Amino acid sequence: EIKERLTTAPILVLPDFQQPFELHSDASKECILYTDHEALKHLHSQDKVSARHASWVAYLEHFTFVVKHKSGVTNRVVDALSRRRSVLSRMIVELCIPDCSLRAHVIQQLHGKGHVGRERTLHLVQTSYFWPTIHKEVEKYVQRCKVCQVFNGTATNAGLLYMPLPILSQPWVDISMDFVLDLPLTQQDNDSIYVVVDRFSNMTHFIPYKKTTDVVRVAQLYFRETDGQTEVVNRSLGNLLRGSVGEHVKSWDHKLSQTEFAHNHAVNRSTGFSAFQVVYFVTPKGPLDLLPVPDKTRVHGKAIDFIHRLQEIHEAVHNNLEKAARKYKTVADRRRRHLDFEVGDFV
Ligand SMILES: [Zn+2]
Repeated sequence: EIKERLTTAPILVLPDFQQPFELHSDASKECILYTDHEALKHLHSQDKVSARHASWVAYLEHFTFVVKHKSGVTNRVVDALSRRRSVLSRMIVELCIPDCSLRAHVIQQLHGKGHVGRERTLHLVQTSYFWPTIHKEVEKYVQRCKVCQVFNGTATNAGLLYMPLPILSQPWVDISMDFVLDLPLTQQDNDSIYVVVDRFSNMTHFIPYKKTTDVVRVAQLYFRETDGQTEVVNRSLGNLLRGSVGEHVKSWDHKLSQTEFAHNHAVNRSTGFSAFQVVYFVTPKGPLDLLPVPDKTRVHGKAIDFIHRLQEIHEAVHNNLEKAARKYKTVADRRRRHLDFEVGDFV
């Protein structure tokens, strides 16, 4: 069976040459490395080396090997591989997971960091992984997640008619704030979380702190000014945070950055993008992503393209937010009473 696997696809598919190569071998005898990269031959005889170069040399010292140069003519195998480079560099890497406990582990890792909902979890998993029943398994997992069940209660809002705030077109112009108070006291002396949300990108920062009466007073003032939507957004965030705290009672402040990352990494339902995409254009690698180096296209891209694409995202987000607000208002108003106030009324 090993023989068959070694000679059939996908083992023989060419790798991505834009990525660094890691070759692990347990051969204890000296081995010979053939390369058409002549400079590598002089690896050990360099006088001046950069810090990066030096760390590679130090790493390679662990292995006994000899580098031999083979020109393109004699090294036909390598040459054939090099020529396929342009075709292969655009391949998108999606790991297919076989039917085993690894699937549940992947879902657990991606969902458990921030307890984002079904759609957002599915999107996170599908970015890097594939298997035929992926939809069903993600849905089942999120439905059965105990943390989500306990803390994601439905929002009840029997207040006034929903008055939407103006739709924005740029990140970090208008922010909303919230406080999650009276959590278990941690060893770092924190018992509350200060939540800051950018209303455009929905990028969120969680800042742990120790409650003081001042903060409570600010919170009370703030809540008089708030609109229904912000309150609802923050309530679900509060639930999410209480969920994460519940798992780590004494050290939740250490886990907060993970929750924050998960929240900003997952696609937001209202904007249609992840907060990272809207603010930075780039989606950072998650903890389960296998590729160790950042995407090279980002380094070599032109600034003007970067700006254009970011502008496109911002326009799309603006349109999506408008759509979401219209939809939200229709649904919200159906459940609420219309109240008229006269000057002098007590409210
Ligand atoms: Zn959950």
